[in-house]
Amino acid sequence: MLAFGTIRPLEIRDLPSLNHDSRPGGAVVDTVVLHATVFETLKETAARFADPDSRVSAHYTIDRDGLIARHVEESRRAWHAGESRMRDGRASVNDFSIGIELVNRNDGADPYPAAQVGSLRRLLSDLRSRHPIRHAVSHAEIAIPHGRKTDPAGLDFSAL
Ligand SMILES: [Zn+2]
Repeated sequence: MLAFGTIRPLEIRDLPSLNHDSRPGGAVVDTVVLHATVFETLKETAARFADPDSRVSAHYTIDRDGLIARHVEESRRAWHAGESRMRDGRASVNDFSIGIELVNRNDGADPYPAAQVGSLRRLLSDLRSRHPIRHAVSHAEIAIPHGRKTDPAGLDFSAL
Protein backbone atom coordinates (compact mmCIF):
# COMPACT_ATOMS: atom_id res chain seq x y z
CA MET A 1 0.00 0.00 0.00
CA LEU A 2 1.31 3.42 -0.96
CA ALA A 3 1.66 5.97 1.78
CA PHE A 4 -0.27 9.12 0.95
CA GLY A 5 2.74 11.19 1.88
CA THR A 6 4.61 9.94 -1.19
CA ILE A 7 1.95 11.17 -3.63
CA ARG A 8 2.13 14.80 -4.62
CA PRO A 9 -0.14 16.49 -7.16
CA LEU A 10 1.58 17.64 -10.35
CA GLU A 11 2.79 21.14 -9.62
CA ILE A 12 2.60 23.11 -12.86
CA ARG A 13 3.61 26.73 -13.32
CA ASP A 14 2.33 28.64 -16.35
CA LEU A 15 5.11 30.52 -18.17
CA PRO A 16 3.39 31.29 -21.48
CA SER A 17 5.03 31.34 -24.89
CA LEU A 18 3.75 33.28 -27.88
CA ASN A 19 5.35 30.78 -30.25
CA HIS A 20 2.59 28.39 -31.27
CA ASP A 21 -0.14 27.96 -33.84
CA SER A 22 -3.00 25.60 -34.74
CA ARG A 23 -2.47 21.89 -35.21
CA PRO A 24 -3.69 20.58 -38.58
CA GLY A 25 -7.35 19.58 -38.59
CA GLY A 26 -7.87 16.06 -37.27
CA ALA A 27 -4.38 15.79 -35.77
CA VAL A 28 -4.16 13.08 -33.09
CA VAL A 29 -1.43 13.63 -30.50
CA ASP A 30 0.30 10.25 -30.26
CA THR A 31 3.95 11.27 -29.76
CA VAL A 32 6.04 12.90 -27.05
CA VAL A 33 9.36 14.47 -28.08
CA LEU A 34 11.95 14.87 -25.33
CA HIS A 35 14.54 17.65 -25.44
CA ALA A 36 17.34 19.11 -23.35
CA THR A 37 17.38 22.89 -23.02
CA VAL A 38 21.18 23.44 -23.26
CA PHE A 39 20.28 26.55 -21.19
CA GLU A 40 21.32 26.23 -17.54
CA THR A 41 18.01 27.42 -16.11
CA LEU A 42 14.26 27.32 -16.55
CA LYS A 43 14.28 31.13 -16.41
CA GLU A 44 16.49 31.44 -19.50
CA THR A 45 14.45 28.80 -21.32
CA ALA A 46 11.13 30.47 -20.53
CA ALA A 47 12.52 33.86 -21.60
CA ARG A 48 13.53 32.44 -24.98
CA PHE A 49 10.12 30.83 -25.46
CA ALA A 50 8.42 34.11 -24.49
CA ASP A 51 10.39 35.99 -27.16
CA PRO A 52 8.40 35.99 -30.42
CA ASP A 53 11.61 36.56 -32.40
CA SER A 54 13.01 33.19 -31.27
CA ARG A 55 10.23 31.26 -33.06
CA VAL A 56 10.76 28.32 -30.68
CA SER A 57 8.76 26.80 -27.85
CA ALA A 58 7.78 23.55 -26.20
CA HIS A 59 4.66 22.59 -24.31
CA TYR A 60 6.52 21.91 -21.05
CA THR A 61 9.90 22.39 -19.39
CA ILE A 62 10.90 20.34 -16.36
CA ASP A 63 13.42 21.99 -14.05
CA ARG A 64 16.17 20.09 -12.25
CA ASP A 65 14.17 20.18 -9.01
CA GLY A 66 11.13 18.61 -10.70
CA LEU A 67 9.07 21.76 -11.18
CA ILE A 68 7.01 21.54 -14.37
CA ALA A 69 6.43 24.71 -16.40
CA ARG A 70 3.74 24.87 -19.07
CA HIS A 71 4.38 27.20 -22.01
CA VAL A 72 1.83 26.12 -24.65
CA GLU A 73 -1.60 24.48 -24.37
CA GLU A 74 -1.57 20.86 -25.53
CA SER A 75 -4.28 21.59 -28.12
CA ARG A 76 -1.91 24.04 -29.85
CA ARG A 77 1.15 23.24 -31.96
CA ALA A 78 4.39 24.21 -30.20
CA TRP A 79 7.55 24.80 -32.24
CA HIS A 80 10.13 22.37 -30.85
CA ALA A 81 10.96 19.66 -33.38
CA GLY A 82 11.86 21.68 -36.48
CA GLU A 83 12.52 19.66 -39.63
CA SER A 84 11.71 16.18 -38.45
CA ARG A 85 10.56 12.71 -39.40
CA MET A 86 9.44 9.68 -37.43
CA ARG A 87 10.72 6.17 -38.14
CA ASP A 88 7.25 5.38 -39.48
CA GLY A 89 7.82 8.08 -42.12
CA ARG A 90 5.59 10.83 -40.78
CA ALA A 91 7.18 14.28 -41.11
CA SER A 92 6.46 17.61 -39.38
CA VAL A 93 6.42 15.99 -35.96
CA ASN A 94 5.23 19.21 -34.28
CA ASP A 95 1.82 18.56 -35.86
CA PHE A 96 1.06 15.52 -33.69
CA SER A 97 3.40 15.74 -30.71
CA ILE A 98 3.85 17.21 -27.26
CA GLY A 99 7.32 18.72 -26.69
CA ILE A 100 8.94 18.41 -23.27
CA GLU A 101 12.21 20.15 -22.42
CA LEU A 102 14.46 19.01 -19.56
CA VAL A 103 16.74 21.65 -18.07
CA ASN A 104 20.14 20.14 -18.86
CA ARG A 105 23.34 21.31 -20.56
CA ASN A 106 23.10 18.41 -23.06
CA ASP A 107 26.82 17.66 -22.81
CA GLY A 108 26.22 14.01 -21.93
CA ALA A 109 27.81 14.51 -18.49
CA ASP A 110 25.24 16.77 -16.84
CA PRO A 111 22.95 14.40 -14.88
CA TYR A 112 19.17 14.35 -14.94
CA PRO A 113 18.32 14.43 -11.21
CA ALA A 114 15.86 11.90 -9.79
CA ALA A 115 13.35 14.67 -9.01
CA GLN A 116 13.40 15.76 -12.66
CA VAL A 117 13.01 12.23 -14.03
CA GLY A 118 10.26 11.57 -11.49
CA SER A 119 8.30 14.60 -12.69
CA LEU A 120 8.84 13.53 -16.30
CA ARG A 121 7.42 10.08 -15.57
CA ARG A 122 4.41 11.60 -13.84
CA LEU A 123 3.84 14.07 -16.66
CA LEU A 124 4.05 11.24 -19.23
CA SER A 125 1.52 9.26 -17.26
CA ASP A 126 -0.73 12.33 -17.13
CA LEU A 127 -0.39 12.85 -20.91
CA ARG A 128 -1.21 9.19 -21.58
CA SER A 129 -4.45 9.65 -19.66
CA ARG A 130 -5.51 12.37 -22.11
CA HIS A 131 -3.92 11.39 -25.45
CA PRO A 132 -3.34 8.04 -27.22
CA ILE A 133 0.45 8.33 -26.81
CA ARG A 134 2.29 5.55 -28.71
CA HIS A 135 5.78 7.04 -29.05
CA ALA A 136 8.25 8.79 -26.73
CA VAL A 137 11.22 9.83 -28.86
CA SER A 138 14.32 11.96 -28.50
CA HIS A 139 14.74 15.08 -30.57
CA ALA A 140 17.99 13.51 -31.83
CA GLU A 141 16.07 10.54 -33.22
CA ILE A 142 13.62 12.55 -35.33
CA ALA A 143 15.61 15.65 -36.36
CA ILE A 144 16.52 15.81 -40.04
CA PRO A 145 19.03 15.85 -41.48
CA HIS A 146 20.15 13.11 -39.09
CA GLY A 147 22.78 14.41 -36.65
CA ARG A 148 21.34 17.94 -36.57
CA LYS A 149 20.31 17.47 -32.92
CA THR A 150 21.77 15.43 -30.06
CA ASP A 151 19.27 16.09 -27.29
CA PRO A 152 18.48 14.94 -24.70
CA ALA A 153 22.04 13.59 -24.39
CA GLY A 154 22.53 11.07 -21.59
CA LEU A 155 18.84 10.58 -20.75
CA ASP A 156 18.04 6.95 -19.91
CA PHE A 157 14.84 6.22 -21.82
CA SER A 158 14.55 2.81 -20.16
CA ALA A 159 13.86 4.63 -16.87
CA LEU A 160 10.74 6.29 -18.27
ZN1 LIG B 1 15.52 19.64 -28.92
